[in-house]
Amino acid sequence: MEITPGLYLVSTPIGNLEDISHRAVRILNSVDMIYCEDTRVSKKLLNHYQIKKQLFVYNDFSGEISRNEILSILMDDKAVALISDAGTPLISDPGYKLVKLCKQKKIPIYTIPGPSALTSSVVVSGLPTDKIYFLGFLPGTASKRKNELQKIKKLDATVVIFESAKKIYKTLNEIQNYFGDIEIVITRELTKIFEEVITNKISNILSEINNKSVKGEMVILFNTSELITNNLDITEVENDIRKLINDLPVKQIANMIHMKYDLPKKMVYDLCLKSKKTK
Ligand code: SAM
Repeated sequence: MEITPGLYLVSTPIGNLEDISHRAVRILNSVDMIYCEDTRVSKKLLNHYQIKKQLFVYNDFSGEISRNEILSILMDDKAVALISDAGTPLISDPGYKLVKLCKQKKIPIYTIPGPSALTSSVVVSGLPTDKIYFLGFLPGTASKRKNELQKIKKLDATVVIFESAKKIYKTLNEIQNYFGDIEIVITRELTKIFEEVITNKISNILSEINNKSVKGEMVILFNTSELITNNLDITEVENDIRKLINDLPVKQIANMIHMKYDLPKKMVYDLCLKSKKTK
């Protein structure tokens, strides 16, 4: 089948093999070459859809030489697809440096959208979806992990962290140390047979994990508005607002309170509106 030359970033399922678009299958069938992280993993997908293409490896260990090889193929007016083991390539997966290089060299780049553990976890979490802060995997060293978690403290967003079963206990312990026993959501094995979405206090999840070995792919989510209010007497803030609500415009009060308590403006604004209604 005819295909426009260029680099195609093709999303593939995160578990259930049916979760792939018609377009993705057509593109994989049409490109000249498919690059993937692990040929054994991607072979299963290709076999399922009877896509008879040879697979080539582009993964975390691929360096400049591999990228230049792919670039020269693309410069030869070929169509190349990049897929990862699961989900959307480049989302905590290889590909960024390749895309950057292709962009510099004016190679056309196309996204073939589809599943990602990021979006799938957010939408089933029941947490606010208007602002999302994606941390990917936390770094390896203790000081860098601490740094990343510190940054979260002043956000007003739903935080998303990818984690492996091996490290989940350690990461949950760290989150509890920094932010207290907050309620979090864990999505596990989404779209697979044993998929689950757990919402609970960290301490409850930790004691459950302690009693059994946890397996599978998982994502941790929590909303930071809880962190902000956790360390603060919210009635003090509400009292301040109540004293001002009849005399000043809401916008001005929101600004003052935001400065005084270092709280997110949106949160203060909502408290002002609530106070106005109950007057
Ligand atoms: N690029 C992929 C994507 O868009 O979904 C993510 C790749 S990242 C290397 C793998 C991480 O994604 C896992 O450690 C886990 O945190 C998350 N993940 C992947 N599949 C999942 C699933 N079915 N359910 C829950 N989390 C999943």
